[in-house]
Amino acid sequence: MAKTRATPKNIKDIEEKLRAERDDLLRQVAELEGGDAATSDLDEAGEPETVTTERERDLSLLDNARGLLDLVETALAKIDAGTYGVCASCGKSIEAARLKALPHATLCIACKRKEERH
Ligand SMILES: [Zn+2]
Repeated sequence: MAKTRATPKNIKDIEEKLRAERDDLLRQVAELEGGDAATSDLDEAGEPETVTTERERDLSLLDNARGLLDLVETALAKIDAGTYGVCASCGKSIEAARLKALPHATLCIACKRKEERH
């Protein structure tokens, strides 16, 4: 009778949130990639340091967005597979409050803390 599935009750809301986040990130990535191409057309001899700093900032933003996009895609795939909300490290359910605040979380709070200590 009792369902042992970890899938949260508000999974629909979470899925919607994740899809919206994915759209947002895809837009960000496209923008940053576009901006990157435009930057390379600029005169590099003028202020090489400024260009480098800007490029580095864009690249780190792009890196960030891609990393997040990866997590969001993983979360969506897990919803499809019915394994959403399970900690990737210890296999326990991730706290509902944590998922609400961070729908793409793949680790429970305890495992996340452990990871951050490294
Ligand atoms: Zn865990």
